[in-house]
Amino acid sequence: MRVLRGKTAIITGAGRGIGRAIALALVRDGAWVCVNDVRRELAESVVREIAKEGGESFSFIGDVTDEEAVGCLVQECVQQWGHVDILVANAGIAQVKPALELTVQDWKHMLEVNVLGVVLCNVAAAKQMIRQGSGGKIINACSIAGQQGFDMLSHYSASKFAVRGWTQAFAKEVASYGITVNAYCPGIVDTDMWKQIDEEFSRINKKAGGETFREYAARALLGRPETPEDVAKLVRFLAGPEGDFITGQSIVVDGGIVFV
Ligand code: NAD
Repeated sequence: MRVLRGKTAIITGAGRGIGRAIALALVRDGAWVCVNDVRRELAESVVREIAKEGGESFSFIGDVTDEEAVGCLVQECVQQWGHVDILVANAGIAQVKPALELTVQDWKHMLEVNVLGVVLCNVAAAKQMIRQGSGGKIINACSIAGQQGFDMLSHYSASKFAVRGWTQAFAKEVASYGITVNAYCPGIVDTDMWKQIDEEFSRINKKAGGETFREYAARALLGRPETPEDVAKLVRFLAGPEGDFITGQSIVVDGGIVFV
């Protein structure tokens, strides 16, 4: 059943990886989707993929750390379709580096994209949902690194712990408007982000490429690396009517790596 028919969704960082899989999953559930990314060629290729499936979408190129661009992202969705019902604040970055070597610039960049980017999108979408008066669903990208600190990923872990705290606090502030705020915490997902993490780990530990990824992925009880589609299944559940009574939660979807 196309449970999201008539709903619109903004998905940030949807040009590839987990965001792309979420965009396709929500389209298959009937939603109209705004595909945001900083990289035009990626966003436009997802829009073409969606069109091939007979779905409706448009791309919006903009950086989630730019408050003005985020305002335009929400306004563009309103102009196209009249309303914003779902926001998936998925855009994020990672970096592997020993904590003792992190620079102020490393910290600022990490927190700006992974925390401020989520906050700006949440606030802009919530203000629009409040104006509409019919509630909404806000869903943020967290991580297993937002449940447990990972070495060599200390500022990434700190950014994801911040997303978990924000998700709880904001859920409390907007619940009276019928808006739910939740987060998904993936594990070791086979995307370009993990390719980059793996290369950086390999350089530091002098291991062969792919070795770190396989080691980490092997920790999952379910015995295989996670796919973007595994994550998208949780997000479509939270975005749809089955998720109506869930708020303030950061839900782990990792095949059994971290236990909370
Ligand atoms: P990815 O790097 O493959 O894709 C991220 C997309 O976001 C890219 O297309 C990129 O261009 C875009 N992006 C980056 N900065 C942006 C910005 N400032 N504004 C707009 N778009 C921007 O990453 P992924 O693996 O698909 O991860 C998606 C989310 O899931 C991230 O928040 C990540 O931290 C989180 N996550 C990933 C994993 C994993 O194992 N891959 C695990 C846990 C959590």
